Amino acid sequence: MKRASLIAKLKQEPFDLLVIGGGATGAGVALDAATRGMKVALVERDDFASGTSSRSTKLIHGGVRYLEQAVKKFDRGQFALVRDALHERATLLQLAPHLTRPLPLVTPLYNWFGIPYYRVGLKLYDWLAGKRNLSPSRYLSAKEALKNFPMLKAKGLRGGVLYYDGQFDDARMNVSLALTANEKGAACVNHVQVLELLKEGDRLSGAKVRDRESGESFEIKARVLINATGPFVDSLRKMDDPHCEPMLRASSGIHIILHQRFSPPATGLLIPKTEDGRVLFLLPWLGHTLVGTTDNPAQIEANPKPSEEDIQYIFRHLEKYFDIPVQREDVLAAWSGLRPLVSNPKASDTAKLSRDHVIHISPSGLLTITGGKWTTYRKMAIDAVDQAVKLGKFENIPPSQTETTPLVGAANYSGGLIQNLIDQAGMPADVAQHLVRAYGDRAPKIAEIARQGWGQRLSAHHPYLEAEVIYVAQEELAISVVDVLARRMRLTFLDTQAAQSSFPRVAQILAEILGWDESRLEREREDFAAYLASPSGEIQLAEQSKIAAGGRS
Ligand code: FAD
Repeated sequence: MKRASLIAKLKQEPFDLLVIGGGATGAGVALDAATRGMKVALVERDDFASGTSSRSTKLIHGGVRYLEQAVKKFDRGQFALVRDALHERATLLQLAPHLTRPLPLVTPLYNWFGIPYYRVGLKLYDWLAGKRNLSPSRYLSAKEALKNFPMLKAKGLRGGVLYYDGQFDDARMNVSLALTANEKGAACVNHVQVLELLKEGDRLSGAKVRDRESGESFEIKARVLINATGPFVDSLRKMDDPHCEPMLRASSGIHIILHQRFSPPATGLLIPKTEDGRVLFLLPWLGHTLVGTTDNPAQIEANPKPSEEDIQYIFRHLEKYFDIPVQREDVLAAWSGLRPLVSNPKASDTAKLSRDHVIHISPSGLLTITGGKWTTYRKMAIDAVDQAVKLGKFENIPPSQTETTPLVGAANYSGGLIQNLIDQAGMPADVAQHLVRAYGDRAPKIAEIARQGWGQRLSAHHPYLEAEVIYVAQEELAISVVDVLARRMRLTFLDTQAAQSSFPRVAQILAEILGWDESRLEREREDFAAYLASPSGEIQLAEQSKIAAGGRS
């Protein structure tokens, strides 16, 4: 459905649920409720996945680190958490096979004591996954570890352990959740911000929102409001009750992107103990190498930026574990995300501590859901909708259907589509692979648009096509250059310079499709520059101010 029709729907209908926030949590809730036959609206003030949900490590995992905690404290609850997440890992690989893949990871070990410790730990991880394990973990000799991950420092290497987790494209998965919910009858709309919560008596009855694209404000009526605003849940709670105690604090985690040559194409690395006792991943991702992450207390803000200090922290570990030199100039992109950490789950009124996420219901009926992780968004959604059904006294609502609801692009997906695009549409192999992995069974539609004269690459060294800009503007609710280059394609995350140089062409195509005038284009330039700018301001847009509105070049 087109954005204009979705906005009309938001204005007209009273809804069962209004979900606020279109990250993994909110989009997951909207999909869960829509597949149970509920009338659902979702509003996202920026774009789907513009918050934490596009800035993750991209692992679908049970949490090796949580398992270590579980063993050390012999905590049954933690074991259950890991087991549930491992169940989800297998489920998500089925629901969106195009956006996910199993990924082998090497854990290098530089002392003999570590070998039995990690071997037993990862066997336990296999065992908890049960029948849904991706592939059994195994011990590697030092020679085998180097064969699997040749960039490792050979000196002092005693051996390693190879285990499997899932990997995914977080932002595309998030967009797919929202689009799938819309296909099931929901109205999930981006660039619509909640300004105020509305009450009838002392109960919430809806929200006043602003469509940030048109500037228009209007009201949405709903029986239950779900606050899924990630790091911003306390801002929403304050709209409900200005005196409520905050329940969250935030910690930031950054990642850097290096060229593909810093990792093998299909094997990741887990550095088990960093200088501050964390784990660090080095993963092949979309033809590049992703390294992260960090963990530092942070201010809550919409577009956090990585600090140079954080980047240096990652560099220190690369120098320690790598035999090939890595220079600062090798960093193609860096980004930061905020973990919503529940610091006070019992803040003010009743709180229900549930798994590793928290559901909190205020006296006026605002249902807040936060915490958890990407991997468990589906479980979080089930819990939130179950609670919402009770809260709104809805009757005859069936249990969750999402375990068997494939996401858009998955129903007729097969790896064979890649060869079809190469043979039948004459696509280069890297483009065909990218289109099928990103859009699943919808990839032929983009190939068709490309055939009609939109087959140019946006950037010489990346597989992204002009045709995709048209497709995502028409079919995936992308209405800005950042929506296109950050969340539908992942270029801003992979290569800042390539993203900058793609800006004029993407803006030009969008201007044509969406009918932008010069003032709208000016807004795009400012938004794009603000999105990419580093804290010290050295990432500047130089040439982009010269784009012309409309017309193909
Ligand atoms: P968000 O994605 O932040 O979504 C909240 C949304 O609410 C935002 O889009 C925001 O714009 C919107 N919003 C705010 N205010 C309003 C308003 N007034 N009106 C409308 N909308 C509003 N998990 C994993 O499983 N695997 C990983 O590898 C992993 N790696 C991680 C690495 C890092 C560095 C971090 C920080 C987290 C990682 N996680 C991982 C955790 C995972 O990313 C988060 O748990 C998840 O993305 C949180 O999603 P969310 O929807 O709750 O929040």
